[in-house]
Amino acid sequence: MSSKNVEDSAAGNAANSIVECGKSLYQSGFIAGSEGNISLRLDDGRIFITPAGTRKGQLKPSEIVELSRDGVQVSSDTSLRPSSEMGMHLSCYKSRADVFACVHSHAPNATAYAVAGIEPDCDILPEVSVFIGDIKLTEYAPPGTSAVGESILPYLPTCNAFLLKNHGLLTVGSTLIEALNRHEIVEQYLKILTMAKALGNVDHLDKAEISRLQKLADR
Ligand SMILES: [Zn+2]
Repeated sequence: MSSKNVEDSAAGNAANSIVECGKSLYQSGFIAGSEGNISLRLDDGRIFITPAGTRKGQLKPSEIVELSRDGVQVSSDTSLRPSSEMGMHLSCYKSRADVFACVHSHAPNATAYAVAGIEPDCDILPEVSVFIGDIKLTEYAPPGTSAVGESILPYLPTCNAFLLKNHGLLTVGSTLIEALNRHEIVEQYLKILTMAKALGNVDHLDKAEISRLQKLADR
């Protein structure tokens, strides 16, 4: 296979993965209408992102927009514009060399926390302590503006999950699967936390157990 074909197949795989992720978000009830956006960065710096104003559960691979590493649209079909949250995705890639995928949705349990303005503790479920770490609540920023990308900057160096105030959930990962896994884990966690609070009690793991879990995960 020529290097051009290798490049093309990488682009095709990226587009297919984003389409599958969109279906998964829709089927999980994390997005409605044209909500949500997904992106992925390849090793060569090219970025693939969902188009603005489309239903992310019914995308075709040909609709995924290709960007240069600086966010300039490369794909030729200019009737398809990149997501209005492109700036938020570019902030993640510029700030974190280890991030290669971003997933944003309005998953209801996470968004309820973002609306209530509650930043959840993350020392309650082992999976969250180990695979997510801190879940940070950002300052409110109007959706679709450059302020959204700026609102996550203070937390980006150390966080993989962000509750966008009065908006929704953003997770990042070294792969699209990792970003999606984190998305699902955060949403499930906040559902459980809401239920436990309704039952009237939430027990925390102690510090020694968190550090034991962390050592296991590092291994
Ligand atoms: Zn949104």
